[in-house]
Amino acid sequence: MGRIYNFSAGPAVLPEEVLREAAEEMLDYKGCGMSVMEMSHRSKTYDSIIKEAEADLRELMNIPSNYKVLFLQGGASLQFAAIPMNLMKNGVADYIVTGEWAKKAYQEACMYGKANKVASSEDKTFSYIPDCSDLPISENADYVYICENNTIYGTKFKTLPNTKGKTLVSDVSSCFLSEPVDVTKYGVIYGGVQKNIGPAGVVIVIIREDLITDDVLAGTPTMMKYKTHADAQSLYNTPPAYGIYICGKVFKWIKNMGGLEVMKAHNETKANILYDFLDQSKLFKGTVLKEDRSMMNVPFITGNSELDEKFIKEAKTAGFDSLKGHRSVGGMRASIYNAMPIEGVEKLVEFMKKFEEENL
Ligand SMILES: *Cc1c(COP(=O)(O)O)cnc(C)c1O
Repeated sequence: MGRIYNFSAGPAVLPEEVLREAAEEMLDYKGCGMSVMEMSHRSKTYDSIIKEAEADLRELMNIPSNYKVLFLQGGASLQFAAIPMNLMKNGVADYIVTGEWAKKAYQEACMYGKANKVASSEDKTFSYIPDCSDLPISENADYVYICENNTIYGTKFKTLPNTKGKTLVSDVSSCFLSEPVDVTKYGVIYGGVQKNIGPAGVVIVIIREDLITDDVLAGTPTMMKYKTHADAQSLYNTPPAYGIYICGKVFKWIKNMGGLEVMKAHNETKANILYDFLDQSKLFKGTVLKEDRSMMNVPFITGNSELDEKFIKEAKTAGFDSLKGHRSVGGMRASIYNAMPIEGVEKLVEFMKKFEEENL
């Protein structure tokens, strides 16, 4: 059996080259006589793995020197608590709720202080991004929170909200490294890596230094303090060592591809192939507002749930895996992250055309 086209929303497809390299190094990493999995995280060899990963990420995203890069555990979901615990100095934060993940982050923040929902797109099942140019931002808000790419619903912020000078915190789990970003516009950028960068178990937090302090909410566990990890350069305790090693390989892969500008062009090409087909199809249609469409997660439906089921089943048999939409929305969703080849999307569209002819 060869590899199939994996459209899973996460954990998701990784570059084949990266997997092959990791396989080659599995038993003996560069003459060490052991796997990276078996190695002390305090060893010289591991030190260069994590340092090089950070340096490559800094180069790719052009991260200024007054930002720290933290490799943490607990997934994006643990950050839903870490963010208010570390940043709510006034006990107030504004949340823009554009999907399930933003909603979960908002609900978590409500446990730690006064979280205000300043905008939402829940009225139309999160099928659009609200106008965030002039929101009622709280005067004493410690930060404004967004989920930049909504993995489940397939929408993306094309312009960042006007935070009226407040710190912007962004969950980029499902659009991490998919295009260039201006890090200076954010206080915190973070994401679980299992969507676009590496294996589940690693979360990357990019945070401006002045936000890292000892002044955290009372009762914040040591492991939840950004300062703990910043001071120890992500080695306070045992980090998700093997996962970070794979992330490092993916950073190199993106660098070899030409960096984030090239990645963006590659992702636009793929997204356009799929959206152009959806826009003219008589059977399939996209579910979100055109101008807010994600390049990474593309939800679509036929309008008939039995036909959706049939499509998902036949697609799987034909080698297109994990096209079932999230359980909260139904229909289909094709996640076309960085590592999905253009050919995978072309072949999917071919298959959809054939299915349309047979079922219209
Ligand atoms: C998957 C996802 C999460 C949750 O990630 P975990 O690592 O499973 O906690 C949070 N936010 C977004 C945008 C996601 O796509």
